[in-house]
This record gives sequence, C-alpha cells and structure tokens, in this order.
Amino acid sequence: MDDEGPSPLAWPGGAGCAASFTFDVDGEAAVLAANPATAGSLSVISHQAYGPRVGVRRLLGILERTQTPSTFFVPGFTAELHPGTVRDIVAAGHEIAHHGYDHIRPTTLSVAEQADQLDRGIDTLERLAGSRPVGYRAPMWDLSWQMPDLLAARGFTYESSLMDDDAPYWLQAVADADSASTGRPIIEIPIQWALDDWEQYCYLPDVTELGPIQTPGHAIELWRSELEGMRRFGGCWVLTNHPFLSGRPGRALALESFIADVHAMDGVWVASLSDIARYAATLDLPRRVHHPIGR
Ligand code: ZN
Repeated sequence: MDDEGPSPLAWPGGAGCAASFTFDVDGEAAVLAANPATAGSLSVISHQAYGPRVGVRRLLGILERTQTPSTFFVPGFTAELHPGTVRDIVAAGHEIAHHGYDHIRPTTLSVAEQADQLDRGIDTLERLAGSRPVGYRAPMWDLSWQMPDLLAARGFTYESSLMDDDAPYWLQAVADADSASTGRPIIEIPIQWALDDWEQYCYLPDVTELGPIQTPGHAIELWRSELEGMRRFGGCWVLTNHPFLSGRPGRALALESFIADVHAMDGVWVASLSDIARYAATLDLPRRVHHPIGR
C-alpha cells in the first residue's frame, strides 16, 4: 500500500522538490491593521519599520551573494511609506507580489471591501514596481472563500496562503453552497505555519507575545527538517520570512548560511514563486474546488 500520497511533481533539472525563500514586507501596515492604537507608539512603529528600512537591504545582499531569486509580498500601504524599498527589490531582480493594501485579513471584510483592497494594492505596486503583480498572499494567511474568484478576475496567476497540500494545485473556491465558482482556476502554492519566522522570532509587547524568542539555530533546524522531508516525499517547500524579524543581524547571518546549504543540496530547485507557478502550470496538476462546510 502506498502511504506516501500522490506521485511527486517533476521539477526542472530532475529535482524532486522545489524551494522558495519568500519575504513578507509587512512593515507598519501589519500592526496598524491588528490594532490601530499602535499608531500612538513610536516604539512599535519603529519595530515594524526596521524591515523596510534595514532588513530588506541586508536580505537583498544575501540573495545577491547566494544568487537566489525570491518573492517579496508588500502591502500597498507599506509600499507607499517606503517606495525606495520597493524600487530596490525590483532593481535587484526579485518579484514583488500582492499582500493586501492595509494588511487587513480578507475574512473580516465584505466582498466589495476585499475587491477594493486588491485594486488599491495592484495600483500601488504597478506604479512603484513598474509591473502588475501576478501573485497574492493573504494578510495573516487568512484567505476568504471569495478571494480566489476575485484574484482570477484580475489576472493573478497564483495564490500562496493555503495549507492543504505539499505541492501546487489548481484552486477554485465556491463562496456559498448554492452557487458555482465562475472564476478560472489559479495556481495555489501551499504554505504552513512551521515555515514562518513569526512563530520563532516575533515578540512585541501588547501586539504579539508568542515568546520565548528562539535562536536562529532552533528556527533553521525546524525549516531544514521540513525541507529534508520534502526532498524525501516530493513537494514545494516555501519559507516565509519577515524582514523586520529575519533581517536582524544574527538571524540574517544564519539564514545566509542556510540558503547556501540549500543550494548545495541535490534534487532541490530554488526559484521565486512566480517561476514556480509558471512551471507548475505546464504540469498535470490536480484541480481542487473548495466548498464551504455547512452545519
Ligand atoms: Zn503579512
């Protein structure tokens, strides 16, 4: 009996596993969306501004030295506050993708409000990055039932916020049980909470107090173990780091060493998410239509 799930996808160069180092440049938008009162704290705002001000530049240096193509998800509001950061990411050759406008969870918004957040984010990124984003990641990875159709209608090619697989698939969602999805499918590139630096490093009093702050060695051991599993079973390993966390010196140093290790591994294709989506679209991916579960 096969207990290892469906056959793994065949990645370029005979790789059994794809890997992507992605960065969510949340900046100030993330804390303001979670709690508008944080606007009154210069300290909290400064904690978030470290990402676009300092962390991104350090990470861009690491990506250049390790020749690693990457994807940066930037909320429109943060992009407006730090246009030079967006331009630097683009100039370094990386992908800029959509991460909401105000970093508000789509599930807390009406359909019209979700569409407005999408459209404002597209307009901002198109103006500052010089091209229209093709990828989307929901703030707090909290995708709504309506969002796949909204993304498809706006020409997005992929989405990366869901957790029900190890590898990309064609995504459609039905917003309510009595209607059918009218959108074309888009590629879903799944993520998971173990592959996020927030749970390892984030400690911000009165905002998020996960604690204790982990060492880079602890975080990277977890990320490496998931990658080893993906190499064994096949899949698409997607790491999500935040420049205000992983851009700090010791963490960045450890990340650079880890990225170099990943490049040296056999059977791993390192790519941006848009390149993964483009390649995955040429494969015979499963198609999944999500339906709400009623009671
Ligand atoms: Zn975010």
